[in-house]
Formats: sequence, structure tokens, C-alpha cells
Amino acid sequence: MPDSRPRRTFAVISHPDAGKSTLTEALALHARAINEAGAVHGKGDRRGTVSDWMAMEKARGISITSAALQFAYRDHVVNLVDTPGHSDFSEDTYRVLSAVDSAVMLVDAGKGLEPQTLKLFQVCALRGIPVITVINKWDRPGLSALELMDLIHEKIGLRPTPLTWPVGEAGDFRGVLDRRTGEFVKYTRTAGGATRAPERRIGPGEVEEPDAQAWAAAVEEHELLELDGADHDQRRFLAGATTPVMFASALQNFGVAQLLDLLLDLAPAPGATTGVDGAVRQVTDDFSAFVFKVQSGMNAAHRDRLAYARVVSGSFERGMVVTHAATGRPFATKFAQAVFGRETTSVETAEAGDIIGLVNANALRVGDTVYVGPSIEYPPVPTFAPEHFMTASAGDIGRYKQFRRGIEQLDQEGVVQVLRSDLRGDQNPVLAAVGPMQFEVVEDRMTNEFNAPIRFSRLDYQVARRTDAGGAAALAGIRGVEVLQRSDGTHLALFVDQWRAKTTARDHPDVMLEALPAGG
Ligand code: GDP
Repeated sequence: MPDSRPRRTFAVISHPDAGKSTLTEALALHARAINEAGAVHGKGDRRGTVSDWMAMEKARGISITSAALQFAYRDHVVNLVDTPGHSDFSEDTYRVLSAVDSAVMLVDAGKGLEPQTLKLFQVCALRGIPVITVINKWDRPGLSALELMDLIHEKIGLRPTPLTWPVGEAGDFRGVLDRRTGEFVKYTRTAGGATRAPERRIGPGEVEEPDAQAWAAAVEEHELLELDGADHDQRRFLAGATTPVMFASALQNFGVAQLLDLLLDLAPAPGATTGVDGAVRQVTDDFSAFVFKVQSGMNAAHRDRLAYARVVSGSFERGMVVTHAATGRPFATKFAQAVFGRETTSVETAEAGDIIGLVNANALRVGDTVYVGPSIEYPPVPTFAPEHFMTASAGDIGRYKQFRRGIEQLDQEGVVQVLRSDLRGDQNPVLAAVGPMQFEVVEDRMTNEFNAPIRFSRLDYQVARRTDAGGAAALAGIRGVEVLQRSDGTHLALFVDQWRAKTTARDHPDVMLEALPAGG
């Protein structure tokens, strides 16, 4: 039976340590009547999100893949798509954001807008993903709420429209003023935030000591915001001009239920999607999905590739035979699974907005479309401008075959971009990355998974522009420029610096030199 409950599919974007894992747990806690958050997140080891999720799955019947956490709230199904947590910026995160309909921007009240948050925000802006802002850690001393609003406006250019306003300054979190109803939502601490934080709604005229003074200050600021026109407007929010803001303490579970309510009330549901040829799929049309993440090496016994796909339209049923748009070949989904660590559970059905893991997906690459019914192909997941380049060669020439296979695999997973040219030959591909950590991942996986040691040698390029075969011919032999071809066929001209890119464009006005979306 298809599950027809409405969907919300979102990701949390934040700088490391802003509280993403804490918030994720708190959201799942609110979504199900479970009493002990502490039992799940095993205090000492906060990095173990993966095992946390496994524990959650067992404890609460929440369905999890390592790519997404799914839970029920009110009459909805919510999909929280995981963004990679490492501090270095890599392309994975961009791709994950192509699978969501909205994003929650989590801001540490003490730190304001940090670099990784800003970068991730840019990707949301580029893709037109509406953003809800959560100011976290309000239980700790930090910036003033008005200062934070100025920072948001200044740094990301969106008009903040607070839906709640804190009662008590940062470090003295008593509750919030609900700007839509004018009520005081009063929070009460519980030990370590381990249980659902109780909240009480109090009418505007009924706020008593010891909260009266903090309340009066909040009311005053709320009125200032009103005069300033900083009120929520759904149309402007969806158009990416404003961001609704709320205040929370994920650690104490303050504001977490409000965030879930907001997601249901304001965040967009999965919508119609346009294919490359202009054909449109409504969510109620035949099944279609696109792959946003590919993972392998999950099971050392058989090197299986798992493709995570977001359902764009229709209903998925395990066993369906779908068409792989890139090759036109049929693909049997008899092994569709929610795979988690070593545990696997079969996904029987999924709806538009849900994330499925397709096993045995050796033909599927990031960005690929699968569908049933009339043919459809979704636009490729955008690639971003690489800024770091290395040549790679087999560290052990006797293991060249393994080296070659490993590079091919990592290329298909989108771990790095792989560039080649006749001049350099096939044995020395150039690896291009948005963030330098991508090379570490390559090195680690080549050594441990493919048993093929790899040698890197840094290249002096910093800037890449898209060109074509004509450009490749025209730019051949020019100093400080090299044209290579990416495995998807795109020609990339690499330049030692911006200046060289500019002067080359000026000196060769007929050559196509297109900027790629900026990444890191
Ligand atoms: P992530 O790196 O974004 O996943 O951050 P974590 O969820 O691991 O949190 C980083 C640190 O901040 C941990 O020590 C958390 O306990 C702490 N933290 C998270 N949310 C809050 C909060 O609302 N208040 C306070 N005081 N600490 C928090």
C-alpha cells in the first residue's frame, strides 16, 4: 500500500559544532513518543552519529539509511537528508542539497554566521532552496538577537523574519514570544534535556515574575521588528528573499517541536520537476527518481555499489523494473533497500520526497535518472568549480590494473573529478577537487579498498573554466593554460590564476570560457 501522507524533505546546513547532530536527535525525539534522548546519544561519544542512528532505528522504528532519517510527525512523513559532517568542504554536500526541498540553517548564537554555513547557504541560494534559520544554543551567552538579525541580513542578503523572539538574552533562555499569536511560550529545563522539554503557553497580559522584565524587553523588540516590516511572508520566503527565524536550544530540546511545526506549515512539499527536454513530472505521475549519492565498499565481501536516489514523482515499489535514462536499459529494483551499516531492511514502497537506496547499482552514477512510463531525464546535479588539482599515478606499477579500476570507481561515485588529455596519457589522470579533503578520501580508499597505492603530485592550477573542443585546440600550447577533458565529456581549461584566465579570455574572444558555479 502506498503511504500517502504528505512529505517534507530537508537538510540541516551548519558549521561543524553548531549542533547539527544534537538537533537531529532532538527532532527524532519529538517526532516519536520516546522519553530518553540520552539513551541514544551516549554522551561521551558525540561523533557516533551513525551508531546513534542505528540505535534510534531500533528504539523507535524510525527508518534510516545512512543517507537519510525518516520519521513521522503529525500527519506527515519527514525526511531529514544527512549532509557530510567534515569541516572541509567537498562536493558531496552540494549533491545532497539537490535532493531536498528546503534547508534549515543552524546558527550558533555565540558565533554567528560561520564560513561553512555561508558556503552551504550559497548552494541553497543557487538552487533556489528556501531556508529556515534556527539560532541555536540560546541557553549560552552569545550575541544579541538583534545583532544576529543584522548579521544574517548583511552576510547572506536574506531578510530575516523572526517567527519567535527570545525571552531572556542568550544565556538566560526563559522561552520565546510567538510572534504570530503574541503568546509567551515558557520553557522549563529538565535534567540534561533528556526528556521532552515541557512548554507552557501564557497570554500576553498574563506574564508574571520572574519573567516580566525579560518579557517586556522581548515585546519591545518584537514591536520594533513589526515597524521594520520583518514579518513572515510565505511568498517571499519561497522565492528565496526572506528567511523565517526561530530561537532554540537543541541540547535542552527548546524550540524543537516548533521547528517541526514550521517545517510542516511553511516548508515546501515535493513539487513538479522539469526534465532536460522541458517535460514536466507532477509528483502524482509515474515513478521517477534521480541519484544524488553513490557509495561502495559497504560490504567488503562483494563490492556492491549502492545508489541513493530521491523519488521525484510517483510511487516506488520494490521489485519494479525501471528504465535507466542514461543508457535506456532496464534496471531491476528487487534489491532496493534501506541499508544501514550492516543491517539491511527492504524498502517496500516510497513516495515522492523519500530517499531510497538501490543495491547492485553498478550502472548508476551521480545525477542519473531512473523512471517508469514516458521517458524523463532530470538535469545533471551541478558540478562546481574545482580549485585544487593533482596528477595521480600508481604508487606500485605492478598494481596498475587495480589503480585504474579504483580511479574509475571513485570517478563514478563523484569522489573527485577525473580529467584526462592525450598529452598526459591515460596512466596519469588529473584529479580535480573543490576541497582538498577529497584527495585524502581518494588516498585512503585507493590504499585500503582497492589495494592500489597512489602517488599525487600537485599541479599549479587554481582556476577552471568550461570550454569546448574548439577551445581545446585554440588554447593548445599557451603558457599557464591547459585543457583537459572530464569523464562526462566536459572540456575544462585550467589556469594558474585568475589573472591568466582573464587575459586569456580577453586575448581569445572567440573561445568559449565559461565560469562554473563557485564552490569552496
Ligand atoms: P555538530 O558538529 O554540528 O553535529 O554539533 P554537535 O551536535 O555535535 O554539538 C557540538 C557541541 O555543542 C556538543 O558539545 C553539544 O553538546 C553542544 N550543543 C549542541 N546544541 C547545543 C545547545 O543548544 N546548547 C548548548 N549549550 N550546547 C549545545
